[in-house]
Amino acid sequence: ASSSPDASMTFSFEPCGDPVAANERAQRLIDPGFGRVFTDHMAMIRFSDAKGWHDARITTRAPIMMDPASSVLHYAQEIFEGMKAYRLADGGTALFRPEANARRFQDSARRMAMPELPESLFLESVERLVRTDQDWIPDSDGGALYLRPFMFASEVFLGVKPSAEYLYMVLASSVGAYFKGGASAVSIWVSQHYTRAAQGGTGAAKCGGNYAASLLAQKEAISQGCDQVVFLDAVERRWVEELGGMNVFFVFEDGSLSTPALTGTILPGITRDSILTLARAQGITVREEPYAIDQWRADAASGKLVEAFACGTAAVVTPIGTVALPEGRFTIGGGEPGAMTLRIRDSLVAIQRGLAPDANGWVHRL
Ligand code: PMP
Repeated sequence: ASSSPDASMTFSFEPCGDPVAANERAQRLIDPGFGRVFTDHMAMIRFSDAKGWHDARITTRAPIMMDPASSVLHYAQEIFEGMKAYRLADGGTALFRPEANARRFQDSARRMAMPELPESLFLESVERLVRTDQDWIPDSDGGALYLRPFMFASEVFLGVKPSAEYLYMVLASSVGAYFKGGASAVSIWVSQHYTRAAQGGTGAAKCGGNYAASLLAQKEAISQGCDQVVFLDAVERRWVEELGGMNVFFVFEDGSLSTPALTGTILPGITRDSILTLARAQGITVREEPYAIDQWRADAASGKLVEAFACGTAAVVTPIGTVALPEGRFTIGGGEPGAMTLRIRDSLVAIQRGLAPDANGWVHRL
């Protein structure tokens, strides 16, 4: 099996013969929501043990034919990424830290016994798709083109083993501001019964199965009147790990910040890493350490904990207002978005949008 880059591989371009008309596109971009409005094109690269990476193209977004015995449909050998292309203040277009997504995609692939897509091919596929469909980036405040690279086992075989063939694809979807009218605080349900990941499992990989396994807990959160679920560790059911699709941060009275360490069971969020870097640069004390759910409740009651927030590509930074457990609820900072949370969100968004200096070279202009 070869997963080395084929330096001579070129992307073919098959322009969509029937693109969405400009006025219809404008209609769809008014209030796109999340994940329902798709662009005209998609990227595709094939892999086989025999040929390595081959057949790279930008083509019309359309349904794909799949044999019902395709391995992914049975054993879920699948990984994905999530990132955004933004319109910059000066009218340019940029991706935010796409190299970090490329590396995480390789890490996920390794864990799932899949071939690692070379970083250069990941970046080229995403860049080409964004350039082709950049008219689909909404101009609205907070709007972006959400990019969904993914790869799945496409070998037609019912045996349980790593597939000999894979299909890598990238979709682009126009998205609006995640929270209209700014960040309002969300409520979260602490999952007691279900866990997300155990040591040695797949928690640190971005594989579809992790999300399938989180749905019942998320459903329980909704039935408890909460917006999101937060998971505890699988051994002691005590240590706060992360939300279904976001990492979590705590803000203390003394102005310090903490977040659970990357011990193999949580997803290494790129937003999480960006916030740690920005906070350290601003002289804020940050700790990556375990935080117990009992401590969270006690610190919220005593006032030692003043804010908490979740973070991820989709919503960037989301204040957590209420935490619900079977024995009752507690609120953080009166249930309102905190000053530090909003400051961190604003400083990150300003960099992403080209409104603040990019000291770390995170803005990848196209
Ligand atoms: N945790 C999980 C489980 C996620 O799915 C995501 C979204 N990728 C995150 C955290 C946040 O990661 P990022 O900041 O890279 O979007």
